[in-house]
Amino acid sequence: MENNKILIYDLSLDSLKEKIKDLGQPGYRAEQIWTALYQTFRISPEEISTLPKDFRIKLDQVFSFQALTPVRAIQSSDGLTIKTLFRLGDGNFIEAVLMYYEDRRTLCISSQSGCGIGCSFCATGQMGFRRNLTSGEIVAQVLYYARNLTEVGEKVTNVVVMGMGEPFQNYDNVINAMNRLNHPKALGLGARRFTISTVGLIPKIIQFADEGYQYNLAISLHTVDDELRSKLIPINKKYPVDDLISACRYYVKKTSRRVTFEYALIQGINDSTEDAEALASKLRGLICHVNLIQLNPTKGFTEEGSSTDRANSFCETLEANNISCTIRLRRGIEIQAGCGQLATEAETKS
Ligand code: SAH
Ligand code: SF4
Repeated sequence: MENNKILIYDLSLDSLKEKIKDLGQPGYRAEQIWTALYQTFRISPEEISTLPKDFRIKLDQVFSFQALTPVRAIQSSDGLTIKTLFRLGDGNFIEAVLMYYEDRRTLCISSQSGCGIGCSFCATGQMGFRRNLTSGEIVAQVLYYARNLTEVGEKVTNVVVMGMGEPFQNYDNVINAMNRLNHPKALGLGARRFTISTVGLIPKIIQFADEGYQYNLAISLHTVDDELRSKLIPINKKYPVDDLISACRYYVKKTSRRVTFEYALIQGINDSTEDAEALASKLRGLICHVNLIQLNPTKGFTEEGSSTDRANSFCETLEANNISCTIRLRRGIEIQAGCGQLATEAETKS
């Protein structure tokens, strides 16, 4: 971050109003700035032509408008996935991914630089934890792509917090970022267009349920066998499967919303018919959806993703047990932009 300047994307509209008042300007100036940032995606005071020139200079002195510097963008060969590496103000790095679907433009954004949970099959986990992102750094990933898409007459339609990091270890900043993006005077994206994915931090799931947000909740479950889950996801020792599923039942009861379970299929490890039966029996009676992902390759994990045949039969077993389920389309694998493949170690060293 530049010197002691305040990152403007770290502020809610109300705090921006306060700051603008402190600068001796009327409150409506804050609204003008807000719409310029969140609706027309301006990235500097010079671009906000509705403001007087002197005030624009003042803004530049007080606020930083640059949360992220794009360092490199890579596109998959089919052109449908774009991954961008960003440098943060303090020199740390993150990645974010834009995915084109027929009718959707989905952004997968990061909540932390690295991740401290250490799931063995995940490239972000393999790189370790750097730091939490501020709410402004989270927001800025969306605004960056929103601006690019606007230039070609398109819009962001969905935002998933499924990039680097564990969002519920950075709960307040993630929720504030979602609230800012979901603000009626911001992108115009309904709460249900946002999804937050967690590895299963129970106290935060309960808090999220109690606070009644309409953002979708996804839980990275991957197996209902505690011994295996603890091997794959160390924090399972603290928050074991039955407790986690109870927390999900609480969430569904409290919010009347469906919960999504993510399940990465690992060949010969968690993808048998018995595994599917065990999963179905744990989820019985819970309003939920299961998203199956054939494990993507990462440097630090030798097991392989399940074949499409095995994924299909796993899905059929779940459906036979009345559990709704889909197999997630694999995207951007060759550019390491797939689920669990985001890591910046290689890039920062090159
Ligand atoms: N930390 C959060 C958010 C990251 S989301 C979480 O774990 O939920 C990334 C999703 O991809 C998670 O569901 C994660 O379990 C999954 N994932 C991680 N590594 C993967 C891999 N190698 N192949 C497929 N999915 C993976
Ligand atoms: Fe962190 Fe999620 Fe990767 Fe686990 S899967 S290491 S929680 S980002």
